[in-house]
Amino acid sequence: TESLADKDGDVFRFMQGELARQRDQIELIASENIVSKAVLEAAGSVLTNKYAEGYPGKRYYGGCEQVDEVEEIAIARATKLFSCKEAIVQPHSGSQANQCVFMGLLNPGDTFLGMDLAAGGHLTHGSPVNQSGKWFNCVSYGVREDDHLIDFEQVERLANQHKPKMIIAGGSAYSRIIDFRRFREIADSVGAYFMVDMAHFAGLVAAGLYPNPLEHAHVVTTTTHKTLRGPRGGMVLTNDPALAKKIRSGLFPGIQGGPLMHIIAAKAVAFGEALQPEFKTYAQAVIDNANVLSQTLVDAGYAVVSGGTDTHLALIDLRPKGVKGNAAEASLEAAGITCNKNGIPYDPEKFTITSGIRIGSPAGTTRGFGVGEFKEVGEMMAEVLDALATRGEADSSVEEAVGKRVRALTGRFPIYR
Ligand code: PLP
Repeated sequence: TESLADKDGDVFRFMQGELARQRDQIELIASENIVSKAVLEAAGSVLTNKYAEGYPGKRYYGGCEQVDEVEEIAIARATKLFSCKEAIVQPHSGSQANQCVFMGLLNPGDTFLGMDLAAGGHLTHGSPVNQSGKWFNCVSYGVREDDHLIDFEQVERLANQHKPKMIIAGGSAYSRIIDFRRFREIADSVGAYFMVDMAHFAGLVAAGLYPNPLEHAHVVTTTTHKTLRGPRGGMVLTNDPALAKKIRSGLFPGIQGGPLMHIIAAKAVAFGEALQPEFKTYAQAVIDNANVLSQTLVDAGYAVVSGGTDTHLALIDLRPKGVKGNAAEASLEAAGITCNKNGIPYDPEKFTITSGIRIGSPAGTTRGFGVGEFKEVGEMMAEVLDALATRGEADSSVEEAVGKRVRALTGRFPIYR
């Protein structure tokens, strides 16, 4: 037999272990989701065998007739989903989507403005440890200390002072609606490109529940695997054909070789799913659930950064009870609830410790949790966190008791049957 289980038990065993983990745990990592079997099937298909350097109709290899059609479907669905003219669906990841825009529109040493990692930005928006921060002159803006919202006065001041070639909005831990119009006005006032990285909230944009950044941005980048619920990958969108041309060459031959045609097929399938009316219902539930979850934690005495959320994610500030982010992450994981420690704005703790956790509702909502279930999740989290607060260390009997309730809940909402 050719089955993976028979041919390679070593790898198969851990894949089964991961399936069990996903089935049994409550996934609150805001950047993760649970794809459909159709998306999985496309991602695990024979299209992985195909080399297709270039773009549909202009490939550097023969035999591309079928994959050309697949890529065209992905492009057509993406442009429909986000009401835009151009879609580049080949970036292997969100990082590479950003990188190919830089490659196409900037030169090494150019200045751009991005959101500070510590304020909720992403590594690829100019962090000193990332290529974006090493090869470009990145100036970071942040959020205000009092309300944790983007400090537009600072953005404006930095733009005037540094005359950036590009301004980037979007991040990994910002839970509020971003004023894209304001950003564009600032960009126009200094002649900068305005780029939005909508990786986190792309699914909400697709559902019409978050403003479409393409109405204001020159270029929009995204991942396809977060709220958008597709395979792990990236994408670039724009309404400007001339910019699209530069970014396409920035991608290939700029930074990538052959595209991952199996992943592009999976993207096409996921975009098809996101175009269905059910996806809008899903995205609304994602937002409702994130609200219930964060409110439950607030009711239990914790704080939420910016006072709430407009999206799928929330940053919980654990300081009201003196709990640290790293300890919270570990103890919740021991109870079967997966999330990540996360710095909060102006965090007094080191990034390896942190004062917060980031939570998200996309994966739980996909498996069918509604507001009732998310309230229960919040209550279970509060129990684990309160035990940490009271004892100053994890309480394994609480973790075990909550773990049992977690498995009872996930058992009622099975995935990949
Ligand atoms: N951009 C943002 C805003 C993100 O949150 C992420 C991932 O967390 C990325 C880009 C990078 O995506 P990837 O991990 O696919 O490289």
